[in-house]
Amino acid sequence: MKKLFCLIIIAALSVSAFAQKPKFKILAFYTTTVESDHVDFANDAIKHFTALAAKKGFVFDTTTNWNLINDEHLKNYQLVMWLNEFPQNEGQRAAFVRYMDNGGAWLGFHVSGYNDKDTHWPWFVQFMGGAVFYNNNWPPLPAKLIVDDTKHPVTKGLPARFTAPINEWYGWKPNPRMSKDVKVLITLDPANYPLGKKDVIRGGDIPVVWTNTKYKMLYLNMGHGDHIFTTSLQNKLFENAIMWLGAHR
Ligand code: ZN
Repeated sequence: MKKLFCLIIIAALSVSAFAQKPKFKILAFYTTTVESDHVDFANDAIKHFTALAAKKGFVFDTTTNWNLINDEHLKNYQLVMWLNEFPQNEGQRAAFVRYMDNGGAWLGFHVSGYNDKDTHWPWFVQFMGGAVFYNNNWPPLPAKLIVDDTKHPVTKGLPARFTAPINEWYGWKPNPRMSKDVKVLITLDPANYPLGKKDVIRGGDIPVVWTNTKYKMLYLNMGHGDHIFTTSLQNKLFENAIMWLGAHR
């Protein structure tokens, strides 16, 4: 009887250990000294994803120390998130390349995908599917979006068209859709044009969410200001993105 009781205790303990084991671990990098709208987004994202982590059973750690992009530290995490910045020095950049080449996953928001002639990181341009920042709208505005593929795990549950909350939208040249490795999941609806007042996007095919299928990566252009997490529809997109990348081994 005593032995059986012990066995039951052991079984119960191992079941609860299994239930509590996180599905995967995320490390989100951000910076507090960048454009204030980008800091606002990072603060909102940390609040939102911390709550989501408790609900969905993953670990969500955050840091402003970009030197933690190193082999030793990143091996603890299955998904790296960049909320409002990208690595600036060679050591961090090289460690990130190794992380991705070794099967790590990345989710980048808004300015984290920004690159231009001064970025000097050709690997990152190909990682983004060839996309180089071209233009933007100002002030930030809501926009109609078209879901290119409603069956993909990242977009499932979304309608074919929806309106995203206020954001600064980026155009890209080259257009990442031109890359054979890129799968575009969401596109800016041409019905928005002209979009902006001071800076106006007047036309063009502008992907908003895409993956470079050579990597476990997803780029989301959302991430400007304090309105990003205000609709359940777009929040569902973010949740899908995290769960897809977290499970995508
Ligand atoms: Zn912005």
